[in-house]
Amino acid sequence: MSKDAILQVRDLRTSFFTKQLEVKAVDGVTFDVEKGKTIGIVGESGSGKSITSLSILNLLSHPGKIVGGEILFKGEDLSEKSPAQMRKIRGNEISMIFQEPMTSLNPTFTVGRQISESFQIHENLSKKEARKRSIEMLKLVGIPSPEKRIDQYPFELSGGMRQRVMIAIALACKPELLIADEPTTALDVTIQAQILELIKELQHTLGMSVIMITHDLGVVAETCDNVAVMYGGQVVEYAPINDLFKNPRHPYTVGLMNSLP
Ligand code: ADP
Ligand code: MG
Repeated sequence: MSKDAILQVRDLRTSFFTKQLEVKAVDGVTFDVEKGKTIGIVGESGSGKSITSLSILNLLSHPGKIVGGEILFKGEDLSEKSPAQMRKIRGNEISMIFQEPMTSLNPTFTVGRQISESFQIHENLSKKEARKRSIEMLKLVGIPSPEKRIDQYPFELSGGMRQRVMIAIALACKPELLIADEPTTALDVTIQAQILELIKELQHTLGMSVIMITHDLGVVAETCDNVAVMYGGQVVEYAPINDLFKNPRHPYTVGLMNSLP
């Protein structure tokens, strides 16, 4: 166990119960996220990546349940927190970005309003101050002419820009941990590279820790320090990125590597 870990996931088990049947979506997952580092969680569709992150954030939907294990964030067990305490943690210390920015942004609010609200919730800023900070944030995530974009609606932006706005909202609270669940899967390859570069840059400036969830080993190679390979709800391999590429141990990892272009 690393003493620099900001998040420690220990033997996490999450199941879905339907008609008395138990589906083990996450089946004994253990990993650490070290301060300022990026861990990649890679695995095919259905391997339990998203359910792992939703379990960490306490955002499982019915009938999903954590049935065992521990999730320690800065040494405190998140499974013992009340819903209100978890909301506070999600708003202030752990942020998340998802695959499809159109479904996570509110289509009826301007971009500026959505980022401003994130600022206002966390910092009690005036409207004017929140707007100013939102423009700065749009600049930070590389949106051109932010003074103009801030008054636009999500549909007026490209997919890449919407994902940048999502990142801006996620970062407005200066999280210590960012969970990025397939953040670039829905984007063109060039935009994908730009967004990954942006996450790396911001991680460096803000000193954030990141969990990068993806089915794409190329993304992992690009961004991560350590990698957990998931298969059938379990971590079948967990290693520093260079070791994984040099010496993959599990047949599934070998298969993944062979499928790289
Ligand atoms: P990934 O993100 O790796 O594609 P998920 O974590 O979303 O996979 O899902 C892992 C497994 O959890 C799925 O294969 C499925 O068996 C189960 N699962 C997810 N959501 C539900 C649900 N709402 N009801 C029942 N089983 C579910
Ligand atoms: Mg997923």
